[in-house]
Order: sequence, then structure tokens, then C-alpha cells
Amino acid sequence: MSETVGFLGLGNMGQGMALSLVEKGFPLRVWNRSAGKAEPLVARGATLARRPEEAVEPGGIVVSMLADDKVVSELFAPGGPLLSRLGSGGLHISMSTIHPDTARRLAREHEQAGAAYVSAPVFGRPENAAAGNLFVLVSGPEPARRRAAPLLAAMGRTTFEFGDDPGASNVSKLCGNFVIAAAIEALGEVAAFAEKSGVGAGPVLDMLTNTLFACPPYQNYGKQIAQRQFQPAGFRLVLGLKDLELALSAARSASVPMPLANLLRDRALASVNKGRGDWEWSSFTLEAAEDAGIGESVASGE
Ligand code: NAP
Repeated sequence: MSETVGFLGLGNMGQGMALSLVEKGFPLRVWNRSAGKAEPLVARGATLARRPEEAVEPGGIVVSMLADDKVVSELFAPGGPLLSRLGSGGLHISMSTIHPDTARRLAREHEQAGAAYVSAPVFGRPENAAAGNLFVLVSGPEPARRRAAPLLAAMGRTTFEFGDDPGASNVSKLCGNFVIAAAIEALGEVAAFAEKSGVGAGPVLDMLTNTLFACPPYQNYGKQIAQRQFQPAGFRLVLGLKDLELALSAARSASVPMPLANLLRDRALASVNKGRGDWEWSSFTLEAAEDAGIGESVASGE
């Protein structure tokens, strides 16, 4: 691909995703609110945009990996500089985890501006992003999905297609994050149980995550929970709380009770209230530890 691609949002995930695009030869123009985060990319050949709209070519492609619904909606507001410049023939590949209805509204607003909108949320950690090894879930109009495909293939190991409804991949992403949060809570509860029974959390989580539950979420979060190592964060608890709120809201719209999601949201909310919002999201398992009266010690980080 020789056309320059705009990339907005160089946080924990965007940084690695943009890097893997640059390394695969995509000419990139990058923008981040805190410009300093663009330095490693500029050092590898990306161009720095001083404003979001400077990253975008009229009729070109822009990828966004921003924090939440509010940020994506504000940057791509109808009549705003970004959407006006993207304009007719443009394509926005929106990779943040946002509400399915936000994605559907954004898709309509892009269409009114002559541009296409594709939702492409991802599974994977910052290290998977940097290695181009994410799982990508994509939905939106078929021609736009086809145009997005080479970029998605460069950032991900596998792309899963969810059809024309722009919100469908967001629903699927929220389903996945709910299951991960449920696994984290289960690991936290058995860690407290094993620890207080004198067996130790480490040996039990090590056994479980190398036998019955031998897959990356259990293994990675199991290690963090056993060691109480929650900083620095790859996925911040405030963002995890956002995703549980999004899942509950979307499930409410579909008239689906999710009692476990309510419990997980309250765990995350309580932990955020205790000042852990910027810790790894598995730190909400300290709630289970605290309930058991063993919440005091946490590894110091780095
Ligand atoms: P992050 O490290 O917190 O980065 C958030 C990005 O959004 C940064 O570029 C940040 O800019 C930007 N941003 C925040 N508020 C802004 C504002 N008001 N105006 C403009 N830019 C703003 O988050 P992340 O972990 O990369 O996650 C990004 C998205 O991917 C989220 O939707 C998250 O739920 C999802 N996700 C994360 C993971 C993960 O493991 N981390 C995995 C899958 C999906 P600054 O650098 O200036 O703050």
C-alpha cells in the first residue's frame, strides 16, 4: 500500500499497532494528544501530525485507537475538521472498544459526510499489538471491510468477520471482555481461598493455568494475581470498568439480564474508588482478597 494512512491514538495499544504498520511498510502519519508518545514512531519513519486532521488525506484511510466513546465521538464530530477533511471516499477504521450504538451512530454520521466507517475492536495485550499478533473483529459495509483488510491483516494474527452491522463487532468484543473479567474474578476468589487455607495462591493458580485452564488470559492474569503485580498496567482498570459498563448498557438495550456482569462492574468500581483506576484491571481481585481479610500486600511495580 503506498497511500499514507493516518493513525490517531498512541496509548498502550495504539503505540504497538502503529509500530507494526510502520514495520510492515505502511506510510503512516501519526497523531496523539500527548505528542511525546509519537517519538518512537517518528524515529522509525512515521510523520508527526500536530493536529488530528493533519494526519488524514482527503478520501484516505484513518485508523483510530482512542480511549472511549466520548473521545472518538468528539474527534469525529459531524461538521468537525477531521470528518470534513476525511470526506468523500474516506475510510475510518475505528478500533477502540466502544458501545455498539455509538459505532452505529458514527457510521451514519460518516456516511452523511461521504465517508465509510468500519468497527474493528481487538483482543490482545500491548505486547501482542507491537508484534502484529492481535485478534481483530471487524464489521461494517462490505466494500469498506475489503479496503480495511490489508491494514487489519498487518495488525492482527486473525480477522473475524461479523457482517455489515457496524455495531456487531463491538457486541462481540464486549462479550469477550465480559468472559475475561469473569475469569479474573474466579481466579481472584480461588487465590484468596487457597491463600487463606495455607496452600498459597501461587501453587494453585500455577496448577490450574497449566492444566484445565491453559490459555493466555488465565495464565497471564493468574500470574499477576498470584504475585499481586498490578503495575505498570497494560490495560488500565478504568478502561475495564468502561467495558463492563458498556456490556451492561448494551445488554440492557437487548433486554438481557447479566447478573454476573453487575457483580464484576461493582468489583471494578469499588477498586477504582480506592485509587486503583490506573492499575492493571486484574487488580479488582484485591476486592476478593480484602473481603477475605488478606488484602494488604501488593507488589511495588516495575
Ligand atoms: P490508553 O493507553 O489509556 O490510551 C488511550 C489513548 O486515547 C491515548 O492515545 C490517549 O492520549 C487518548 N485519549 C484519551 N483521552 C483523550 C482525549 N480527551 N482527547 C484525545 N485523545 C485522548 O488506552 P489503551 O490501553 O491503548 O486502549 C485504547 C482502546 O483499546 C480502549 O478503547 C481500550 O478499551 C481498548 N483495548 C485495550 C487493550 C489493552 O490491553 N490495553 C486491549 C484491547 C482493547 P494521551 O496519550 O494523550 O493520554
